[in-house]
Amino acid sequence: MVDKPTHATAFSLEGKLALITGGGSGIGFDIARCMVQSGANVVITGRREQPLQEATETLGDRAHFLVNDVTVRESLDGLVETIEATYGPIDILVNNAGINMKKPALEVSDEDFDRVVHTNLNSVFSLTRACAQRMVDRGSGSIIMISSMAAYYGIDRVAAYAASKSAVEGMVKVLASEWSGQGVRVNSIAPGFIETAMSKTAMSGDPDRFARAMRRTPMGKFGKPEDIGWAAVFLASDAARYITGASLPVDGGNSIGF
Ligand code: NDP
Repeated sequence: MVDKPTHATAFSLEGKLALITGGGSGIGFDIARCMVQSGANVVITGRREQPLQEATETLGDRAHFLVNDVTVRESLDGLVETIEATYGPIDILVNNAGINMKKPALEVSDEDFDRVVHTNLNSVFSLTRACAQRMVDRGSGSIIMISSMAAYYGIDRVAAYAASKSAVEGMVKVLASEWSGQGVRVNSIAPGFIETAMSKTAMSGDPDRFARAMRRTPMGKFGKPEDIGWAAVFLASDAARYITGASLPVDGGNSIGF
């Protein structure tokens, strides 16, 4: 008789390797922290060395970093090759790195728009393809996109950001449909308002924006980065082995609508 997974084994990431982009700070750091606590080895990336170094020191022996800018798309195949040659097969990819830009749509230049879409969408596709080629060959893998409730709801002054995140949500369903038969699950997490540098900037200089954000959030408070971290552990784990093509809101009830 085959043993059924227990609570301990179903949620464990023991022996898995996760690549988390933008893992040196904010939500990405807490995804890395929660994954390390669940038994995974992690490789975190970002453009700046110092936060990555500090993050890996905090996370301990099972964390490693590589400086990489995801917008340099031609670097991404090499990034995956280097990681796999050094640390072994990547079991989990978390596309977390992202940028926002808060401007009224009429003030958004083509360059502004392209910069956000290039980081949040084009690079996500390139890195996902680089990892998935290997995952599909091995017949297993879990890919998680960090999108946003901005993909679903009209939030003023984030036209490019919302466009990029909506496109990621659309892509998740297609990739899940193409790869799930080969053992590679693809899901997204749509965070609501989470306490990080990005959300602080988005709220800055606009006192009413915070009040409006809270009016849209039935729980009446911001989430913590680790709320996204534990959701990512769940989606990456065997406990979610029959979940693919899904978008999981982690948003204090924001997506209930009002
Ligand atoms: P932060 O701005 O706090 O952190 C972003 C991280 O991404 C940093 O570590 C940054 O490191 C890295 N990063 C940015 N650009 C690049 C790049 N080109 N290449 C590699 N790394 C990069 O943001 P959050 O932690 O708040 O956001 C993380 C994700 O969650 C994003 O995708 C965001 O859209 C999403 N999200 C956040 C919400 C929130 O309320 N905070 C709500 C909904 C979604 P470095 O600067 O060193 O490159």
